[in-house]
Amino acid sequence: MKASAFDYVRAKSLPEALDLLARHGEAAKLLAGGQSLLPALNLRLSAPEILIDISHLPELRGISTTATSLRIGALTRHVELQNAALVAEHAPVLTQAIGHVAHAAIRSRGTIGGSLANADPAAELPACALALHARIVMQSPRGERVIAADDFFTGLFATALLPDEILTAVEINLAQPGDVHGFGELARRSGDYAIVGLAAQGRVQNGKLAALRLGYFSIGTKATLATKAAAILTAGGGIEAAAAALADDLEPHDDLQADAATRLHLARVLLRRVISGMMPSLKAAA
Ligand SMILES: Cc1cc2nc3c(=O)[nH]c(=O)nc-3n(C[C@H](O)[C@H](O)[C@H](O)COP(=O)(O)OP(=O)(O)OC[C@H]3O[C@@H](n4cnc5c(N)ncnc54)[C@H](O)[C@@H]3O)c2cc1C
Repeated sequence: MKASAFDYVRAKSLPEALDLLARHGEAAKLLAGGQSLLPALNLRLSAPEILIDISHLPELRGISTTATSLRIGALTRHVELQNAALVAEHAPVLTQAIGHVAHAAIRSRGTIGGSLANADPAAELPACALALHARIVMQSPRGERVIAADDFFTGLFATALLPDEILTAVEINLAQPGDVHGFGELARRSGDYAIVGLAAQGRVQNGKLAALRLGYFSIGTKATLATKAAAILTAGGGIEAAAAALADDLEPHDDLQADAATRLHLARVLLRRVISGMMPSLKAAA
């Protein structure tokens, strides 16, 4: 199929993009890397009247640090994330996850902002944003708004972005001594969307796992934090008790790849693998 007819405009600055978005409202779609939007247009799952191309905005580019945060511009491409030393230092779970996102051709165009705004429940980066306790930075004609990733993903392909807002950056706290992370996904073939995946971030303090965040993806309608399982593990409970708690934390769905019971089973398999990798002493308890 081919996309329905649409107008196209390339914004030259963030204020111009915001102005265009305010004028066209829900008749417009922002175009970043196009790796999710163009297939949706061609399948006629989306039929905007106008595409606002934001892919050349310098304000949305770059990876930098402040005294407290790593800031990743929304237009940072997957391949740039994968190769960035600052990301490997402060958010290595992203470095690890990105190798599982699609294939090299898609990683060379797709952007972190596009992935988060798209909020595909099977995508790796929303779950990483949850695990990393990331903050999502958005801009509208009213100014800047920053919210926690926990409040950003609201449902199936749905986010807290308002129709006149552009996601401009992602902020993550700088790495601290003792930080540990883990990542795992189960997919039929390399590059496929996962059947289930897990991005985890925590800290080893006094020989114990603390501040643990378990971001699951491809299980349920959106990326989900497994809070009960994480609380059990940080309270010194064993991996099996945490694995049992996943039944409360997650709402697995059925699809052609796997039924809900299989997904829950695979989520437990990943928990055992990822946590014992982060904290080898917990392996014996598993
Ligand atoms: C064959 C194939 C396999 C793939 N496999 C995977 C996979 O395994 N894992 C995975 O995570 N992804 C996968 N993807 C998706 C890919 O990672 C996309 O690049 C990503 O999801 C969207 O990023 P994008 O920059 O291309 O966004 P676009 O396609 O340009 O936009 C996606 C949506 O986000 C909106 N948007 C984009 N940027 C912004 C912004 N800054 N502010 C507000 N809204 C914005 C757009 O309007 C659109 O609605 C795959 C894609 C393809 C084609």
